[in-house]
Amino acid sequence: MPRHFDTTYDVVKELKPSYPVYCLRPDILRDAASRFVEMFPGKVLYAVKCNPHPEIMRYLHEGGVRHFDTASPEEIALVRRQFPGMDAYFMHPVKSRDAIRSAHRVFGIRHFVIDTEDELHKIRAETDEDPDLVIHVRLATPPAGAAYNLSAKFGARPMTAAELLKKVDSYGYKAGLCFHVGSQCTSPNGYRIAIELIRQVIDFSGVKIHSIDVGGGFPGQYMNQRAPGLDVFMDEIKDCIRWLGMPDITFMCEPGRALVSSGVSLVTQIQLRKEDQLFINDGIYGSLSEAVTGNLRFPVRPMRIGGDFDPEETLEFTIYGPTCDNMDVLPATVNLPADIREGDWIEFGHIGAYSNALATHFNGFFPELLVTVGEAFPFIDGEFPQVG
Ligand SMILES: *Cc1c(COP(=O)(O)O)cnc(C)c1O
Repeated sequence: MPRHFDTTYDVVKELKPSYPVYCLRPDILRDAASRFVEMFPGKVLYAVKCNPHPEIMRYLHEGGVRHFDTASPEEIALVRRQFPGMDAYFMHPVKSRDAIRSAHRVFGIRHFVIDTEDELHKIRAETDEDPDLVIHVRLATPPAGAAYNLSAKFGARPMTAAELLKKVDSYGYKAGLCFHVGSQCTSPNGYRIAIELIRQVIDFSGVKIHSIDVGGGFPGQYMNQRAPGLDVFMDEIKDCIRWLGMPDITFMCEPGRALVSSGVSLVTQIQLRKEDQLFINDGIYGSLSEAVTGNLRFPVRPMRIGGDFDPEETLEFTIYGPTCDNMDVLPATVNLPADIREGDWIEFGHIGAYSNALATHFNGFFPELLVTVGEAFPFIDGEFPQVG
């Protein structure tokens, strides 16, 4: 069990950490999971890649998550080690033959994804033509307000998807459709566009569909990316489902970010100040890569023990990570007290998604200490804390 503190400030006061510390909020993670499970009209699969830490998975499971979206035998094993017998789905459109075989034979996986006929043949061969599978056809969707496009690499075009459904059906498999609108999708309309496209594909194929998986993409809240609440997305999706009018279909979704982003913050320490440049102990090769890849700006809280910051004056600081690489710098400046200095701490909020999951050991820096805290990172009435 990780050590527990009431507040992040207590973490700083007691540990005076010169290494980065992940601060998990068990209540927030449980609530995010249970809200999602309550509101989504179908099965909620947690996308393990977003944050595979066992403590995170534990809180999501306690919040009611019972299904897991995985993309590799390693992720499937991770789920099964922690939750024996729990449902895992192999939702990657390109798998090695060995991965398909071990997923099926060792782990008894029944759900697979394809976006080509070749992959369908691989699955058929490596599962010894076991007919008792659900094969989901991944559909490419048009970009619609997401920070990441996940249809450039994967996804069949509508006509191809319809042909694939027919093939899946002809082999006696249950046929499903899935898509991913792109991660950090701030527009509910992205799901509507995708579901309307799905309707055309189903009609064109004439195949009886077993399930529709609306993927992930549900957004977190960041300084430069405010998104409507989860209820707005759920209303849109429920409306689309009514419009589809297919009561026999099982609906599924694969949220990653929306379940974990607000439930974790990261405490970093300033190792040196050079005028308006701050050198901290984590960066883009550690927990903060999404500042670059997703252009996300995380909310921050400065912390100091044994004294206060000057409340009057703030400055825009450039933040450098600990590695010797030139690129290890946050792309946007961060507003902090003008008198911040070496030894002070900066807490980054809403850092639960794609942070520790993507951290490297580059240059000998690797963030790994994890504690739990009782207080939420402040986000009140849609506002992050003011610095200064
Ligand atoms: C990454 C991924 C997810 C999770 O996406 P989020 O944007 O974190 O919700 C879900 N499904 C698939 C297939 C993915 O690749």
